[in-house]
Parts: sequence; C-alpha cells; structure tokens
Amino acid sequence: MQTELVKVCPVCNGTSFKNEIQCEDYTYRHQQFTIQQCMTCQLLLTNPRPDQNTIGDYYKSEEYISHTGKTNTLFDWIYLKARRYTVQWKYNLINSRKEKGAILDYGCGTGAFIHHMAKKNWEAVGIEPSDTARTRAEQLPAKKTLLLYKKLGDIPEKKFDVITLWHVLEHVPNPDQLIGSLKQKLNKNGLIFVAVPNHKSHDAQHYRNHWAAYDVPRHFWHFSQSNIRKLFDHNKLNLKEVLPMELDAYYVSLLSEKYKNKGTHNLVTPIKALLTGYRSNAKAKKTSNYSSLIYIAGHA
Ligand SMILES: [Zn+2]
Repeated sequence: MQTELVKVCPVCNGTSFKNEIQCEDYTYRHQQFTIQQCMTCQLLLTNPRPDQNTIGDYYKSEEYISHTGKTNTLFDWIYLKARRYTVQWKYNLINSRKEKGAILDYGCGTGAFIHHMAKKNWEAVGIEPSDTARTRAEQLPAKKTLLLYKKLGDIPEKKFDVITLWHVLEHVPNPDQLIGSLKQKLNKNGLIFVAVPNHKSHDAQHYRNHWAAYDVPRHFWHFSQSNIRKLFDHNKLNLKEVLPMELDAYYVSLLSEKYKNKGTHNLVTPIKALLTGYRSNAKAKKTSNYSSLIYIAGHA
C-alpha cells in the first residue's frame, strides 16, 4: 500500500494531530488504520491514508454494494429496500424546498437518486469518478434530462438550483476546495445539501472502533457539526438547516454489529442493532447528534 500523510487540516489549517483511535478496514484487506484528531478544530482524519493511485482498490470489495448494486444476502436485500425508500425521502426533502430546476449530484454512485430526480423532470447532472459505478448509472433506463460525467471539470458551464453530496464529502481528498468549487456552480438562491456521518452520535460512541461509518480508509474525514460549520463559514456559505437521517442509525448499527461479531450476524446481532439504532435516535432528539446529519446551506 502506497500511503500519503495529511499535514494540514482542511478545516482549520492546523498542523498538529494526535492519534485518536485505531480502526480496521472490515470490507477489503482488513488492514489497520489510525484515525487522528486535529488539535485545533478536533476534526478526525484517517492518517496516513492510501494515496490517490491506490485508494481506488479499496472500493473494489464485493461488499461495497452502494457501487455494485448486487444482492446476495437478506442484508443486501434490506439495504436495497431502504435505498429505494431513501431516494423518495431525499426527493421529498428537496421538493419541499425547491419544486423544480437543475440539480447536480456530486458522487452519484450507481445513480439511483439522480435518476429518480430526472424522472421527476429535474434537469439532472450526476458526477461519479468510479468507472464501474458510473457505467451502471448509464445503464439505467435512459432519461432525456440526465447527464453523467466523471469529474466536475467535464460538465458544461452552467449553474444549479440544488447541489447534493450524499455521504460523499468524507471520501474526497480536499473537502474545502470541493465545497468552494461547488459554490461557484450554485445559483443565487440555490441550496447545497451535504450529508455526512456524525462520530458524536450515540451509535459511534457505543461501537467505537467497530463503528461502520468510520469506514477506513475510504472515509478520509470524520466531521462533527462544528467542523462542517467552519467549512461552510470559510466558503461563505450560510448554514440554514441541520436535519437527521434517522434510518442511518439502524443501518450503521447493523453493519457495526456484524464487524463486532467477526464479520457475521447471529440471531441476536440484528436485535442489538435495532436497539442501538433506536437509542441513538432517541438520545439525538436532545443532543442533535444523530448518526448522520444533512446540512443545508445557501449563499451567505
Ligand atoms: Zn483542524
């Protein structure tokens, strides 16, 4: 594995880090990775991490079904059912704030969400760097209003009413730069939706190094609410809303139970996951630290 070391924090430009937690890559080579903490803004980061030439290998695991869309087990089946529900839920979330227009989904994966938006007559653009995932997205029934590209630089010169990053910002090498570039593509009254896992949630604290949403080394960054606020402030974006993704507490707990139980479920692991997911959401009603959060922002 070729690794690279992050020396400057993308949130605060801090340069001092301390080791925080050791995590395993449970889906690919089962290597250990260190999660460090920025001493200034408390951002957590996977450091060192595989470099840009080798990180692609870590997405090749058969289990990474958000990219392959394959179903082999009951768990995959539940996952795909939940994904269908989530796609409609995301559409409703957007539709209640913007009724129509142009949407850019950055990191669209196999395209389920952006395809749905095109079906609902949005002018839709998806960006996906993984050739495997993008090819699958291209194979979905053609929609006139859907265009797919490999990178941001490839898309036509235009602005969008909505830009979405669903669990993407934690994967990109330079989140601050990306938010800045995306802001340039946002219409005057446009909205940007950023969903990321939250390591301050109860399920994260409960599962610690088995918490599935650390997902090392694919997740480079592990953001708190204050980290995202800083990132938006820095890019002169005005944070308007922070919303929970309650289903994620269950999904992440289910995966975490599996990792904790040496990679397999038994009769009690799903029950434990259900209880932890429920407890996480219940506690978050007071703390707002849900398993995953959606940040909605516009031009300041
Ligand atoms: Zn920092």
